[in-house]
Amino acid sequence: MKIILLGPPGAGKGTQAKSISRKYSIPHISTGDIFRQNISLSTELGKEAKKYIDKGQLVPDELTISIVKDRLLKDDCKKGFLLDGYPRTVKQAEALDGFLAEHGSRLNLALLIAVPREFILERMTGRRVCPSCGASYHIKFNPPQQEGICDVCGSTIIQREDDTPETVSNRLDIYDKQTQPLIDYYKDKNLLSVVDGTYSINNVFKQISERLDLIK
Ligand code: ADP
Ligand code: ADP
Ligand code: ZN
Repeated sequence: MKIILLGPPGAGKGTQAKSISRKYSIPHISTGDIFRQNISLSTELGKEAKKYIDKGQLVPDELTISIVKDRLLKDDCKKGFLLDGYPRTVKQAEALDGFLAEHGSRLNLALLIAVPREFILERMTGRRVCPSCGASYHIKFNPPQQEGICDVCGSTIIQREDDTPETVSNRLDIYDKQTQPLIDYYKDKNLLSVVDGTYSINNVFKQISERLDLIK
C-alpha cells in the first residue's frame, strides 16, 4: 500500500493518518512532523525550515524532496507507506513518481479529504498537538481525556505557532495555488479517491477504510 493523503491544512490528514497507519500497518510519514522534530532539535534542517514554516510558506522543493527520498529508502517503507503533507506541489509529485519508478514501484492511491474553506479556521485555531508523538487534538471536536494531556504518551499538548488566523489564511492561499493542482494531476492518473471530510472523525475513517479495503 503506497498512499498519499491530500487536503487543505486542517482537513484531518494527520488525525486520519494515525488511524490508517495503525490499522494497515504502514508507516505514517508527515513532512510537517519531520520539520517540527528538526526545529525542536535545532538541526540545520530545522533552522532552514523554520524560516518558511513560521510565515506559513512552503519549505523549498529541493530540500523537501530530498528529505522524503531519504525517508522512503528506509526498510520500513518496503511494504508500503502513507505520506501526509507531501506532495504539496506538482514538482514534488513528479519527483515522487520518478523516485518510485526508479525503484520499480508506483503509488496505489491519492486520497483527498475534502473540506471546504469555511470549516478550516475553527479546526485550525482549536487544534492542539502533542510535541512528543505528533498526535492531534481539538478543544471542541476531539479533546484529550484529560485536559491538556496527550492520550497516547502523556506529554503536555500545545498550540502550534503556525496555527494563528493570519498564518492559516496564508497557508490556505498557498494550498489553493500550489497544492490544489495536484487533484487534477492524480485524477488524470486515475489514482484519486475523494472522501467527505466534513463528517465526524470516526465517519471519515469509515469512508477511508472502505476505500483502502479495496486495495489491501
Ligand atoms: P498542516 O497540518 O496544517 O497541513 P503540516 O504539518 O503538514 O501542516 O505542515 C506544516 C508546515 O510545514 C507547512 O505550512 C509548510 O511550511 C511545511 N511543509 C510541510 N510539508 C511540506 C511540503 N511537502 N512542502 C513544503 N513545505 C512543507
Ligand atoms: P491536517 O493534518 O490535515 O492539517 P489535523 O488532523 O491536524 O489536520 O486536524 C486539524 C484539526 O481538526 C485538529 O484539531 C483535529 O483534531 C480536528 N479534526 C480532524 N478531523 C476532524 C473532523 N472530521 N471533524 C472535526 N474536527 C476534526
Ligand atoms: Zn503524545
